Amino acid sequence: MDFILPPELDRWQRRVRQFVQEELQPHDAEVEATARVPEAALAGLRRLGLFGTHTPAAYGGLGLSMLGSCLAVEEIAKAHVAFYYLCGVNVHIGSKPLELAGSEALKRRWLPELASGRMIAAFALTEPEAGSDAARLGTTARRDGAGHYVLNGRKTYITNAPQAGVLTVFATVDPTLGARGITSFLVEAGTPGLTVGRPIEMAAGRGSSHAEVVLEDCRVPAGNRLGEEGTGFALAMRCLDAGRTHWGAYCVGAAQRLLDLAVARASARETFGRALREHQGIEWMLADMAAAIHATRLVAYEAAWRYDCGDGSAATLAAARSKLLGADMVHRIADQTLQIFGGAGYSKDEPIERIWRETRVVRILDGTSEMMRRIVARELFREADRRNARL
Ligand SMILES: Cc1cc2nc3c(=O)[nH]c(=O)nc-3n(C[C@H](O)[C@H](O)[C@H](O)COP(=O)(O)OP(=O)(O)OC[C@H]3O[C@@H](n4cnc5c(N)ncnc54)[C@H](O)[C@@H]3O)c2cc1C
Repeated sequence: MDFILPPELDRWQRRVRQFVQEELQPHDAEVEATARVPEAALAGLRRLGLFGTHTPAAYGGLGLSMLGSCLAVEEIAKAHVAFYYLCGVNVHIGSKPLELAGSEALKRRWLPELASGRMIAAFALTEPEAGSDAARLGTTARRDGAGHYVLNGRKTYITNAPQAGVLTVFATVDPTLGARGITSFLVEAGTPGLTVGRPIEMAAGRGSSHAEVVLEDCRVPAGNRLGEEGTGFALAMRCLDAGRTHWGAYCVGAAQRLLDLAVARASARETFGRALREHQGIEWMLADMAAAIHATRLVAYEAAWRYDCGDGSAATLAAARSKLLGADMVHRIADQTLQIFGGAGYSKDEPIERIWRETRVVRILDGTSEMMRRIVARELFREADRRNARL
């Protein structure tokens, strides 16, 4: 086992790190104040290919491994979360349904647009009455002759819906079939019957958008179906594996940024005649933070590696484990960093309170931490049952 990154990935991560420091972080305060991502930052994200890190090169992406993609995400996470909501979410749940299940014609038409960042995609699974229990979604897809489906329903919390050029909409062709009735469709913005509804203001993430999506007799060509009827739920879960693997890496990057800020503050600030970091209570807190980030980084890289190995169930488990541990870890690190900063950490003069709010969401989106525990426990029990059966 080798814990050293291959030179090309190491170079890639350094390049993204430099870009984030020079071209994204300087805009953090502006994004928070204005709730807008400046065009210059967007242009930089596009220039580096960060809208298509994991999209195959044949469709205009960088074609990186999942590890390479996660290394970029780890760096993007050191800037305002609005940047990640735009490019990162586009890379995984935005583009993945099309990449994994779209027809060749659909992939050729849309993936280059998405990978270049000229267009953004959204993933519309959650509904007001179906979040964690997504298999119970109520949006319906009715066949309208041979050539079309008609979609009706309402989605909520859909990231990037207002800007999206295309949306993957999950709907059921037969509610009595449960998960086996769920089917996914690529719906173009502007299709009659598709409207972006109420924008939803979140606790954090100014500059990003999340909204309701309403489908009222929305006619979609049958050629826009992604995969066969009834395969949409499995497709959603495969896309979420990629999303969770990326969010695990996001947690590591955001936590590292916090630790760097905490160390700088504890070195510069004096209390009781000594640097803060010379007080053992603070020194130990910093050491625990560094150790936790290191452990979680290894788990995140392992999840990326498992994804690259292509073993579906091992990748699902590793992604859930990484997101579960990362979400808890980063929120704890944010809280500890805020504590080390004292009043300054709680004030809006410093970025700490913003990152503290931003990182809270990882325990909720792309599957809550309780759902991640269900996946981890499912594997735990399967293994125990296999062992018992052998006895
Ligand atoms: C900022 C943000 C962006 C999002 N972006 C998208 C997006 O782009 N596309 C999309 O489709 N969705 C998106 N979502 C929705 C997100 O995926 C859901 O919020 C999430 O899956 C949880 O669903 P819910 O909010 O309906 O909570 P519920 O399902 O109502 O759950 C409420 C609480 O109960 C817990 N719970 C539920 N069932 C159980 C159980 N069996 N055992 C133990 N605990 C349980 C949950 O873990 C949670 O803590 C986004 C959400 C947020 C906040």
